[in-house]
Amino acid sequence: MTESPNKPVRTRFAPSPTGFLHIGSARTVLFNWLFAKQNNGKFILRIEDTDIERSNSDFEKDIIDGMKWLGLDWDEGPTPAAAGEIPNSKLQFPKYVGDYGPYRQSERLDIYEKYLRKLIEEEKAYYCFCSKEDLESDRQAMLSQGMAPKYGGRCRHIKKDEAERRAKAGEPAVIRFRVPEIEVEFQDIIRGKVKFDASLIGDIVIAKNLSSPLFNFSNAVDDAEMKITHVIRGEDHLSNTPKQILIQKALGFETPQYAHLPLIFTPDRKKMSKRYLETALIDYVKDGYLKEAIINFLAFLGWHPKENKDILEIGELVKKFELKRVQKAGAVFNLEKLEWLNGQYIKTLSSEELAERMKNFIPESWLNENNTEILIKAISLEKERIKKLSDFKESADFFFELPDYDEKLLAWPRPTGEEFIMNKEKTSTNLKLLSEEIDKIFKADFNKENIEEAITQLTAVWGRGDLLWPLRAALSGKEASPGPFEIMEVLGKEETLKRLKTAMEKLS
Ligand code: GLU
Repeated sequence: MTESPNKPVRTRFAPSPTGFLHIGSARTVLFNWLFAKQNNGKFILRIEDTDIERSNSDFEKDIIDGMKWLGLDWDEGPTPAAAGEIPNSKLQFPKYVGDYGPYRQSERLDIYEKYLRKLIEEEKAYYCFCSKEDLESDRQAMLSQGMAPKYGGRCRHIKKDEAERRAKAGEPAVIRFRVPEIEVEFQDIIRGKVKFDASLIGDIVIAKNLSSPLFNFSNAVDDAEMKITHVIRGEDHLSNTPKQILIQKALGFETPQYAHLPLIFTPDRKKMSKRYLETALIDYVKDGYLKEAIINFLAFLGWHPKENKDILEIGELVKKFELKRVQKAGAVFNLEKLEWLNGQYIKTLSSEELAERMKNFIPESWLNENNTEILIKAISLEKERIKKLSDFKESADFFFELPDYDEKLLAWPRPTGEEFIMNKEKTSTNLKLLSEEIDKIFKADFNKENIEEAITQLTAVWGRGDLLWPLRAALSGKEASPGPFEIMEVLGKEETLKRLKTAMEKLS
């Protein structure tokens, strides 16, 4: 979707730092980012931290860390000085390449105050002195008459001067917006025409006082002040939209376009919650998912390209994503699909790149210079098999250290019942035969092809299972692993012979 060139596209992500970056919010980031990029627009990060009690800078950091990890940077901000690496990051993130810190609402309070004063001055907002008890008794009265409760309007008609005098004198008050009793209609890019009867809303509180604006107010002001053209956010905000539109109208601002993204469900149609699935992006990062796979996966939560394709990298997404074609119906979060995608992306990365990304998932000793060659070779082998970076440690540990295994592992044929039969002598003789053959190969020629060729001569005579099973088991100490020739190439001649010797010792 391309927008008219006269009005530069500006989107924003406006998280409240009251929790870790939710995987669903990461989709909101992505859709805003994609839409801005494909329209040569700007994408803005605005931290909505006016709720001082619930906001927390650790959460802000987590949100920023997550966006940077995904590579979905914002394009603009108020303070070049705030740029730089995020100190004490919980993860190893790539260097911060952006130039700006985010906008923070807590640093913009004077802007909201100016607009609050304007609304009060124009009598579009007013001080409300109602006590909790007043409000509760009005509520009960309305309920008993079968009406949907809303603010009863006790303070609506207090004269402006009198109200200001009372507020100045320190009488507890909040600021309410005079919600006009009209029908609010807007065209949602995803949902089409949406209508709300604003007479059901009642006058809403927009600020606790002149320097403490509440969410709907600061959000509406900032979307206008920051010239946001497209508000792309979760469907859970749909009911806020008419309030924000009315506030913008009251201030003489233009209304942005809205696109409310479908909610995300688990495959059995439950709301995404920690009880069923991890919800924080950071948990997926720690689990060993790649940013490429997560981005691809998130893009398909409520959208898919016209062509029948499952794998679309970020560059293609920028070209193909269409906000208009995002579905209204809930999107299903299918973890198996994410895992599959991750496996696909792992295969496409070079082993060197994977080694780099694997750093947080493997023991430090594996990163030792002496192990570099083994590490790279082991990754080349395992990358065909693993689904997550975190799988590598368990599937590749034997390359670095032979696990202690039971001699029974060497038995061929594999025992089926309880009773264990193994001809130890025969197994040992076979391993000896193999050792001698392997020993003949020059160190410099010690690669998969040469090893395979040498051993195939033996298996032709002595049988595959009888030789290859104990060989592979002796090399890996595991029931399942890559094939013996591949393993030997990774381990090298010396270590291979050492492991065969260990196996023979177990049998003697
Ligand atoms: N601060 C709001 C939230 O975190 C977002 C509002 C919006 O995107 O408009 O839910």
